Amino acid sequence: DRCFYFDEITSTNGFMLGHTAELKNGDVCVAEYQSAGRGRRGRTWLSPYGHHLYFSLFWSFPQGMTQAMGLSLVVACTLVEVLKSFGVENIGVKWPNDIYLDHKKLAGILIEMSGQVDSECQLIIGVGINMAMSEEQGKGIDQPWSDLSALATMPNKTDLVIVLQKQLKRDIQLFEREGLGAFKMRWQAADLFYGREIRLLIGENTVEGVCRGVDEQGAVLLETAEGTRAFIGGEISLRAR
Ligand code: ATP
Repeated sequence: DRCFYFDEITSTNGFMLGHTAELKNGDVCVAEYQSAGRGRRGRTWLSPYGHHLYFSLFWSFPQGMTQAMGLSLVVACTLVEVLKSFGVENIGVKWPNDIYLDHKKLAGILIEMSGQVDSECQLIIGVGINMAMSEEQGKGIDQPWSDLSALATMPNKTDLVIVLQKQLKRDIQLFEREGLGAFKMRWQAADLFYGREIRLLIGENTVEGVCRGVDEQGAVLLETAEGTRAFIGGEISLRAR
């Protein structure tokens, strides 16, 4: 595997999307600073210089995007477990792929694709982690955020990259072989909202119920007065009730 390392770049995902023809499964890109870090749906991932991780990993799925559905949940499980292995506690996931520490956003995951939906597609798995963010740096973030500065020992960035790359490769291969079913219990263990009252914001609409985890497709399961319903799609946001 290769690691493409940059002091400064527009976005690590952008670099990889521009070089898919030359990349191999497991290649990663790491940068110290992103001038245009990306979030979901055109949002921004604030990416200042300092002790933070901006990381992307390349993977090609021969059968297209249908096979890759639910991958963001897999990546969220991997990331939570890797951070736990570095001593991070009080960490968990909010469907579909936000990582929270002490109920404040610690890390983000952005999966972007090139290629076809129904044949070979290339996925870029982007991960941003706040490691030691100063108040000044975090000013531009429009929601509560956290970092790893309360840890007794701050993870070494290179160690974090190596472990994350290794565990992501292992979990993506498991996902390719067995699908999301293999991650159901791991997701449940990391899910901050499991069994709790939540609201789903779906465009202009809101649905309320009790969170019952995810199904084999990666949809969030909501227990409502009309029974348990599955919700999936990029336009849905989960909130506590
Ligand atoms: P939400 O977190 O509201 O559910 P989302 O999952 O679509 O939205 P992401 O794409 O994961 O969001 O991340 C983008 C959002 O994260 C931004 O709109 C901003 O509120 C927040 N954000 C941006 N940079 C950081 C950062 N370095 N640390 C924590 N949060 C950030």
